[in-house]
Amino acid sequence: MRNMFQLLLLTVVMCSAFGCAGAQPVKPLQALLITGGCCHDYKFQSEKLTTGSSALANIQWTVMLDPRTGTEGEIDLYDKPDWAAPYDVVIHNECFANTADPEYIRKITKAHRANVPAVVIHCAMHTYRAAEIDDWRQFLGVTSRRHDHQSEYPVNLTDAGRKHPIMQNFPDGWKTPKDELYVIEKLWGNATPLATSTSEKDGKSYPTFWTNMYGQSRVFGTTYGHGNATFEDPVFIKTVTKGILWAAGKLDDDGMPAKGYMAACEHCEMKSN
Ligand SMILES: [Zn+2]
Repeated sequence: MRNMFQLLLLTVVMCSAFGCAGAQPVKPLQALLITGGCCHDYKFQSEKLTTGSSALANIQWTVMLDPRTGTEGEIDLYDKPDWAAPYDVVIHNECFANTADPEYIRKITKAHRANVPAVVIHCAMHTYRAAEIDDWRQFLGVTSRRHDHQSEYPVNLTDAGRKHPIMQNFPDGWKTPKDELYVIEKLWGNATPLATSTSEKDGKSYPTFWTNMYGQSRVFGTTYGHGNATFEDPVFIKTVTKGILWAAGKLDDDGMPAKGYMAACEHCEMKSN
């Protein structure tokens, strides 16, 4: 009887520790963050994204931070065949606008087209911008080559966004910290805008959060993420975290992590959402 009581007690403690998200431990989602290059504080952004998302969801991170800070760079990792194989999802926050070699770019897009889901953040939309081929842009779901000035931009949900799990409980009209609005020249055919912001210069609305399908793979993107303040904003981190889960097929229709993918903590923010 005493042993039974101890087992019950242990179960209660475990349940509490894992947020009752599931009795069986689930292998954490394996996420690879590829970052570095021009114009942003990638060390800070990486720390905020990895710690912030892991406090919300059962995600284990590998970070590939390229130390170069210019606009050109080819990342060695992509030379490895099956470079993405160990990961469930890859997050691109790299920024090498003048790297344009088609063969190099296709090493990246080939993996995604086959079966590797992705999340693309801010300068990922301007990386490989000089390339003549469209493969990277088709993978992103948008074509962008320039941005408006920094401001606190209101973000408005689209009809599709209102229904999408990633944007459940997103505060419609949320204002970004000072950030750049990317001008979207083209939305590719498989992309769906979830939210937009309006340019203070030309009065046009541009997608700022969207989903895309690239081959067999889900892609979630946001053009925000310029400054450190954006990565300190809980709305931004939560939305990107949901995007990561959704891309990997681990976000339920109600916008909550699938069973076993809630963060292993007692006071997870995602619970109250
Ligand atoms: Zn920027």
